[in-house]
Amino acid sequence: SIPLGFFGGIGRASRQGVLVKGGNYLEALNNVSQIVFDKTGTLTKGEFAVSKVESYNGFNNEQILTMAAYAESHSTHPIAKSIVEAFDQKIDNQRIKDYQEISGHGIKAVVDDKEILAGNIKLMNKNNIEYQEVDADGTIVYLAIENKYAGYITITDELKEDSIKAIKGLKELGIKQLTMLTGDREAVAGRVAQRLGLDNYYSELLPDQKVDEIEELLGRQKENDKLIFVGDGINDAPVLARSDIGVAMGGLGSDAAIEAADVVLMTDEPSKLITAINTARRTRKIVW
Ligand code: ADP
Ligand code: MG
Repeated sequence: SIPLGFFGGIGRASRQGVLVKGGNYLEALNNVSQIVFDKTGTLTKGEFAVSKVESYNGFNNEQILTMAAYAESHSTHPIAKSIVEAFDQKIDNQRIKDYQEISGHGIKAVVDDKEILAGNIKLMNKNNIEYQEVDADGTIVYLAIENKYAGYITITDELKEDSIKAIKGLKELGIKQLTMLTGDREAVAGRVAQRLGLDNYYSELLPDQKVDEIEELLGRQKENDKLIFVGDGINDAPVLARSDIGVAMGGLGSDAAIEAADVVLMTDEPSKLITAINTARRTRKIVW
């Protein structure tokens, strides 16, 4: 049975914007040895903005942005939203004949009877598109029209200011291993990890590989140690479920993630983890 004091702890946490789904998770928060963060939407704002469009092979920038916006218009991914926003025109759904989201890769769609690919180099490689890899700051969305490389769109995302505070505070609480997992490129991931002072990061991961990475980290920890994974939810539900303590962002997060999570941060601030751990520590003192 769960000591009564835990209910007080859960109440205290919820008043501070941290929803803990049970006393066992509050107790587990006392034994956190490592925290694994998803990047996009968790440590970064997840508010991407288009900063550049480039076209090749006879296509122009307007065609690139139009085709990308049409291909992305059914996706809820932050990358997709930024492209649709930059396009800034009404989407005529009749023009979209087929649409498929390939997680960790991008979009395959049929627009105006033309096959469109919009996504990263994995998507281009998978479809044997001859493209030139771009070395620039930000996330690059490559576009192919009828299997011909047509250009790319550069999208930039910013760090949450709160992430800096969160990492600093969690280190002060004595948590020794702070890791980031991301599907984004090595260059982008490296810059984020360095700016935040993370201990480790893994980039260019597919959703399945994130689960593998979590398994690996879980396998290496000591018996009573607990691992937290924090994500905004897009593709994160399997990782949330596998972690000792799955934490979802409540504002940006998807319903599936909030459902799969053990703890929900209602304000999307990673520093709420400090609140959660402090509340757990206080509760333990009162309970035992
Ligand atoms: P993260 O791990 O950063 O949250 P995701 O797993 O959601 O990222 O996506 C990984 C990568 O897959 C993105 O950085 C992007 O290159 C590509 N991608 C995913 N969804 C889309 C999309 N809708 N349009 C274009 N590219 C996408
Ligand atoms: Mg994500």
